[in-house]
Amino acid sequence: MSDIIHLLPESLANQIAAGEVVQRPASVVKELIENAIDAGATNIRVIVKDAGKSLIQVLDDGRGMSVTDARMCFERHATSKIKTSEDLFRIKTMGFRGEALASIAAVAHVQLKTKIREDELGTLICIEGSKVIDTEPTATVDGTSLEVKNLFYNVPARRNFLKSNSVEMRHIIEEFQRTALSYPEISYSLFQNDMEVYSLPSGKLVKRIVNLFGKNYQSQLVAIKEETPHFNLKGYIGKPEFAKKTRGEQYIFVNNRFIKSNYLNHAVMTGYENLMPKDYYPFFVLFIEIDPNHIDVNVHPTKTEIKFIDERTVYGIIMSAVRQSLGQHNIMPSLDYDMDINLDLSTKFGGENSRKTSQELNYERFRVDPRDKSNLSNWEELYEKADNQDPGSPKDQYIIESDFHSEHTDNNGSTIQKEDLYPLTFQVHGKYIISPVKSGVMIINQVYAHQRIIFENYLDNLNANSGTTQKLLFPISMELNPGDYALIMDIEEEIIRLGFDFNIFGKNSIVINGIPSGMSDINEKEVFEGLIEQFKFNKKKLEISTFENLAMSIARYTSLKEGKVLNDEECRSLIDRLFGCKNPNYSPYGESTYVILELEQLEGYFKNRN
Ligand code: ADP
Ligand code: MG
Repeated sequence: MSDIIHLLPESLANQIAAGEVVQRPASVVKELIENAIDAGATNIRVIVKDAGKSLIQVLDDGRGMSVTDARMCFERHATSKIKTSEDLFRIKTMGFRGEALASIAAVAHVQLKTKIREDELGTLICIEGSKVIDTEPTATVDGTSLEVKNLFYNVPARRNFLKSNSVEMRHIIEEFQRTALSYPEISYSLFQNDMEVYSLPSGKLVKRIVNLFGKNYQSQLVAIKEETPHFNLKGYIGKPEFAKKTRGEQYIFVNNRFIKSNYLNHAVMTGYENLMPKDYYPFFVLFIEIDPNHIDVNVHPTKTEIKFIDERTVYGIIMSAVRQSLGQHNIMPSLDYDMDINLDLSTKFGGENSRKTSQELNYERFRVDPRDKSNLSNWEELYEKADNQDPGSPKDQYIIESDFHSEHTDNNGSTIQKEDLYPLTFQVHGKYIISPVKSGVMIINQVYAHQRIIFENYLDNLNANSGTTQKLLFPISMELNPGDYALIMDIEEEIIRLGFDFNIFGKNSIVINGIPSGMSDINEKEVFEGLIEQFKFNKKKLEISTFENLAMSIARYTSLKEGKVLNDEECRSLIDRLFGCKNPNYSPYGESTYVILELEQLEGYFKNRN
């Protein structure tokens, strides 16, 4: 048999390598920005069209390339950043593998214009699928411009695999934010389809954080600084009361390189221990400066994973530095999380305004189709034993009237005195609703029950497109970070179905004109922000549809909270609505909404055990 092994053509080898380095437009943005940083740029401009699918251009005022270097830079393993294997352990630059440009040029139409200060003229090179199409001298400014067009034009599988523009744009923004954070002394701008998304002047890190994430971050930051023989740590951490439900805004840089490390994230979180409720994530931007000898960045082509020689020491120092910074700023462990918007929202179940809403809730009960047994199955079980009860039994007074059924199925609209129902329903510990049932005692968790009610209500509205809106007297404008803005554009239609009414209002801003009906005494802006936060959180964790996610998010964010005191009538309303649900047994997040303490169980507790 003849020999069958042969070397792959260079272009194909590059295309294969590209699979690792260039996964999506955002990877190109990352690589090109990093090259600009390594070239000593003080100003970096990023231009994208169609979320990078048709164009990504990065312009810098760095040192540029000579004619020969300009030709060389697209070769695989061509780099100016390392020479020997020892250099691998002295890496101070972002790049060193010499494969980004080769990879990008293998899967796109690339145009490079570059000029070094000493030269009069610069160089223009056009390259498509690793083939040089054109090289010529050109008049251009000092520095480099790299244009990447039609990414993956020759890899249809990759191109088709790209997500919607808003998703890809979100990834680009993420990469942009990371590099912008790591070098606040460089000025950056980002344009999408000729619209300016960011314009970040050079300055201090605090200023960069504020410019990237919003003015309100200024007051949320606590400085952190620790110098040790092993490494130096500095940066900012967010005060615990500003922690969010999504992990998004957490950044660790090692020698200015953004890295992902669950281990070090855990160190920070441990530093916050007991200062935040469970499932909340604080903001942080931490810079670790360490001798390159003590780390290995060459773990993965994207270089976001790194190995520390002494990971445990790094962990310990980060954790205690976080703890110390929070301590110094007098951040007490007794932060009052109930002060949030959710509490205001839940006032629809109490106070002055409660009457109308409670009546509405009661009315809801009678709209349940009596023939639809599925809605009642739970009650049926609860009452099953009742039918066999001796009516004269002394326990009777603790038993819910079994005529609930007959009332319930009464279509004549005859008045029902709700006081007749659930005679002994009440709340304990601002948390549980206790109600006697035939088989024992039912204990309802008010939070989970209410979440189930809201969830089903909004899910129905979304499916039937029947969400109604209450117009705001004064529309509210909201400034969003570009990531959230892109997300909102992505699910705009669904948010409107929920009952929100909003318009786009210039760059990264929207105006809310209306909110879903039935919400009263709320801070509309906070509800909207909370909804988006929770949505992002769910999206990362769960495989669910957008409808379900939105309904779950609004449920979690607007439900009653623990500690909300309910009067008996409100308790009864909640029970009514819960058992009007299709699946009353669980919260949308899977927690049980109620338990029943069976009489037998109770009796067991009183038995003489001797
Ligand atoms: P690496 O960054 O790992 O060296 P790249 O393929 O990204 O590999 O780049 C190859 C080489 O091209 C770099 O080492 C650098 O010398 C040169 N280069 C790339 N981009 C720029 C730029 N914006 N300005 C100046 N030189 C650049
Ligand atoms: Mg590079």
